[in-house]
Formats: sequence, C-alpha cells, structure tokens
Amino acid sequence: MVEAYQALKHSYRNYDTKVALRRMQALRRSVQELNRRGYAIALELLGSLNFGLVESSSDVDCILLHYCHEHLHEGECGLGCPNMIFKRDQLLSILKEKTRGETFHIEFLDVLNLKYIEHWLEADSKPEHEPIMRFLFYRFLGRPVNRPLVIHYYEQLEANPELMREFHEYGSQALSAYIQTSGHRHSFTKYNERIQSHQIRLPRDLIEELRNYLDLEQQ
Ligand SMILES: [Zn+2]
Repeated sequence: MVEAYQALKHSYRNYDTKVALRRMQALRRSVQELNRRGYAIALELLGSLNFGLVESSSDVDCILLHYCHEHLHEGECGLGCPNMIFKRDQLLSILKEKTRGETFHIEFLDVLNLKYIEHWLEADSKPEHEPIMRFLFYRFLGRPVNRPLVIHYYEQLEANPELMREFHEYGSQALSAYIQTSGHRHSFTKYNERIQSHQIRLPRDLIEELRNYLDLEQQ
C-alpha cells in the first residue's frame, strides 16, 4: 500500500501547477535563509502541495524536522516545544517577506527531532522507535524541502532490514489512518477534477495507479 501511494505521488508531481511551483520555491528559499541564520531545519510537505495540484486557496500541510537538545531523551518535541516554535515563527516571517501579496496558510502537523534520530542510530540498545517510524512514514508520504539535511539518516535507517520490515507494517496502518482522518479520498476526487479542468489528459498508467491505490484503500 505504501508503494502504491508513492507511485501515485510521483505520477502526480508531473502535474505541478504554477502556484505549486511558486510555493515550493518560496518555501525552499525561506528554509535556506533560516539555515543561513544558523537554524538547520527541513520540511516534509503533505497534502495538496505534495501532489502538485495547488490552487491559490489551498493550505499547505507540513512536518517540521529540526535539532532540539532539550528534548533529546524524550524522543518527542511536540508542537509546544519552544525551540520548534521559535524556528517556525522565524520561517513564517521570512516566508512572508518572500511571498509579498501571495500569502498562504501553513499548518504544522507534527515535529520531529533529528537529534533523537542521531541518538537512536548511535545507540547500542535502541530506545523507543515510534519517532523513527514516523520519520520514515513522513519521508515516504511527503515532499521534502531541504532534502540533504535528512537523506543520510533515511539511508542509514533503510539499511536496517529488520526496521524496514516493521516499518512496512506500521506504514500500511498509518496510511489507512491518514486517509480516513484527513478527508484524503475527497482530495483525490478534487485532484482529478482539477486535472481534468486543466485539460491535461491522464496517462493510462496513472489512471491504473489511482485505481490500484483506491482498491487497496478499501481493503
Ligand atoms: Zn524540542
């Protein structure tokens, strides 16, 4: 199921609208600027920007990845973490400067601590791995901004076959939950309406992938 979703995501990317491209660029530049100020962060974008079919009224859903010493041993930062809030607000103010006139709402759905991921990778007896599962899940699901910051963690985790077997199970369950709770199926119908109204003809294999995906979803 995770693979079906990924294949679908990649196919949809070919239909990036101008609004989606502009937003991706603004987000990339803002994240770069924040990195230059000494705050290394990355984003995983979920939802409509991930699929490229954005209209100016769409929100952006994202996951923030950062380094937080304060919450290293807890595994979780949580959306109330002051370090996260500081970087988020910095990012939003840079973004506001860069997108003068064309504002859009960003929803931060979750935050992951890359310090914890480093700690987990180095530990001999592995601590709680739920945050690791979420990291992998968002990586599978999302569209990255500042990919170089996270890709080497991902590659190290991917080289662990036992972990990946567990992730396969976790990923399928998490994906069903995500689809059911986020009105995701409704979004897919919307995506297709938009593709049609842009008069882009869907290639046969994309229709096939969409059908496979929706079949899997009903299982
Ligand atoms: Zn924190």
